[in-house]
Amino acid sequence: MMHAGTDEGLYGLTIHAAAKLLQAGEITATELTQAVLERIYAVDNDVKAYLALTPETALEQAIEADKALAIARAAGELDFLSPLTGVPLAIKDVISVEGVPATAGSRILEGYVPPYQSTAVNKLRAAGAVILGKTNTDEFAMGSSTENSAYFTTHNPWDLERVPGGSSGGSAAAVVAGECLGALGSDTGGSVRQPAALCGIVGIKPTYGRVSRYGLIAYASSLDQIGTFGKDVTDAAILLNGIAGYDRRDSTSVDLPVPDYRAALQPGARQAGHPGKGSLRGLRVGVPKEYFISGMQPEVELAVHQAIGVLGQLGAEVREVSLPHTDLALPVYYMIAPAEASANLARYDGIRYGLSVPAGTLWESYRDTRGRGFGPEVKRRIMLGTYALSAGYYDAYYLKAQQVRTLIKQDFEAALLDVDIIACPTTPTTAFRIGEKVNDPLSMYLSDVFTLSLNLAGMCGLSLPCGFDTAGLPIGLQLMAGAFREETVLRAAYVYEQATDWHKRRPTL
Ligand code: GLN
Repeated sequence: MMHAGTDEGLYGLTIHAAAKLLQAGEITATELTQAVLERIYAVDNDVKAYLALTPETALEQAIEADKALAIARAAGELDFLSPLTGVPLAIKDVISVEGVPATAGSRILEGYVPPYQSTAVNKLRAAGAVILGKTNTDEFAMGSSTENSAYFTTHNPWDLERVPGGSSGGSAAAVVAGECLGALGSDTGGSVRQPAALCGIVGIKPTYGRVSRYGLIAYASSLDQIGTFGKDVTDAAILLNGIAGYDRRDSTSVDLPVPDYRAALQPGARQAGHPGKGSLRGLRVGVPKEYFISGMQPEVELAVHQAIGVLGQLGAEVREVSLPHTDLALPVYYMIAPAEASANLARYDGIRYGLSVPAGTLWESYRDTRGRGFGPEVKRRIMLGTYALSAGYYDAYYLKAQQVRTLIKQDFEAALLDVDIIACPTTPTTAFRIGEKVNDPLSMYLSDVFTLSLNLAGMCGLSLPCGFDTAGLPIGLQLMAGAFREETVLRAAYVYEQATDWHKRRPTL
């Protein structure tokens, strides 16, 4: 099915373009949902983005959305309708959707059906969005390639021999392959930004506390945050507006008003005295010297430098900054995240959720359930984390890591006194081959060397497309800012995107 503005069919639409057509009555949510489901049936055998599909409920939700659209149109109240009304979305399988199996990519949750729904999905549903299904993830979001899923590996739509990144690789691949219009992921150390970079789309990691974690299957609670994927900055911003906000059911969510992120993209249109559409005049951009490391893929380094050059041409003032504790982010993260994971994953005992292996004694049943239910990476982290938290080692490892975490946060606070945003690569390389790193955890951990710090600091950031390597694989530019400065990064990203064409390219499948 072809439609104005795309040569791909309805599934290729952005959320904002689809919203216009839906509101004008030129397409229906049912047609759009059907077109996306057909696309899934056509390509998901190759991409393998979805763990579970819910086509019947999706079509019911689309019919509901069509009714809401018709009523609003008749009443002249389309302005009050969310741009997400009737828009088909995908949800990472660590985020609970009531009545739909949630596995978190693990065998230990096989058969578990959450009896309640995450706040993020509740909000999307209240906005009229259509939920298509659950996307593949590394087991409990531990990984950078989606190869740690206990079920199967997701393939990168740009080159099916390569990984889509992880852990939210299913969501990122689904967006760029046209298997949904937008998606949710979770980012504990980079799992939204890194797959967004490797798949050539936009991924936002909101400030810790911006989005409720209620109904998000916990990995590392002080780092986890639900984030959004879109084909462009506007779509990712619309989705963030769809899920952000205080929730009394998550005591770490923050009670601050949620800005209109979409309006923030073009403040020039509204504010007198603003430099205006298309200009970054007045924006100070810091480039951390520690983020261009040896061993980086030269094409990534070049593309990111060129992108920073474009920010300068658009009027931004670019200067070097220093984040001196950057090299400690990886060891600190791999102390704190496994420590928190080892505590969070203690609840999978074969009694309360999913898999249960019967055995002679209770202890043997715990042992056999956990032994069979968890994969090797999860076991590695439970062991690491339990060790770091054990008496005698706690001070030397966990406490020390928390102290260094504070230093990393202070690095950001100091740098952000002089600049408004920080620009750097999202990943050191483009998408790697399936199987290339899966048996070498340390080299896999390095994929997130540029994204981990932001979670440790609790601040916000995003990745957006800024080029392609000679193999035709996308490259991501990471923009970061202080806590609750999402509007600043989104606006910079939007102005950059308007001046470039990278976000318009799509893989052929
Ligand atoms: N790759 C990192 C890890 O395995 C980050 C994962 C994430 O953000 N969920 O912990």
